[in-house]
Amino acid sequence: MSDAGDILTVSGLSVAYGASRALFDIDMRVRRGEVVGCVGRNGAGKTTLLKSIAGFLKPSSGSIECDGKSLLGLPAYAIAGMGLKYVPQDKRVFSDLTVRENLELGSYASRDYDWTPVISYFPKLKSLMDRKAGYLSGGERQMLMIGRAILGRPSLMLVDEPTEGLAPSIVLQLKEVFRELSKTTTLVIVEQNLPLVCAIADRVYALNEGRIMAELRERADVTPESCERYL
Ligand code: ATP
Repeated sequence: MSDAGDILTVSGLSVAYGASRALFDIDMRVRRGEVVGCVGRNGAGKTTLLKSIAGFLKPSSGSIECDGKSLLGLPAYAIAGMGLKYVPQDKRVFSDLTVRENLELGSYASRDYDWTPVISYFPKLKSLMDRKAGYLSGGERQMLMIGRAILGRPSLMLVDEPTEGLAPSIVLQLKEVFRELSKTTTLVIVEQNLPLVCAIADRVYALNEGRIMAELRERADVTPESCERYL
């Protein structure tokens, strides 16, 4: 059951790839305005959790509600259309299209043609508009992915390992972007970079082998050392 402050409620969620179970009975709540971190080692089930919420995987049991509405059975595009955006880990952009064209596709999909917020979060994209996305660095691609996702002003963003493989200077920049974004958008961020996630999250779920091992909710507990204990 969700309560009035919840934007996302996941209850008893189990997900399998064929006969291999990846998530076991996951309960997770996200309140409107929160930044929620989700940490775990490789293979813990973090991506499976985000993909299930975003409609890319069909759970074997459990419920997922956004603003009290069930997301089960809805296609991913319909979930995105409800204002719930997923930024995948693979930083996949349309490589043969320019940055401008990639953003235009985001605009068509979300019917939001105002790129002011995108440019204000990522001024660098302005100078890259005519560059084919296939030639962008990893950091620039991530900017494009997040920039495209914020079109349509989503109410909830699920961001999968945004800083993986990026240079420290870009990681710092993204940290500030998430701080700023969190003023208008609820965020769920999957990360293996524990100092980063602990610097921006209000609460953290620790996953291990498809199960939630702990929910760290007191500010003093949201530390890399506390997270490590459960991984
Ligand atoms: P990482 O940090 O490496 O991305 P993760 O915590 O996101 O890890 P998942 O990718 O969700 O973990 O994987 C959870 C489990 O499901 C792992 O055991 C993984 O091998 C398995 N798995 C993931 N994708 C598939 C798939 N397409 N087919 C079969 N098994 C899969």
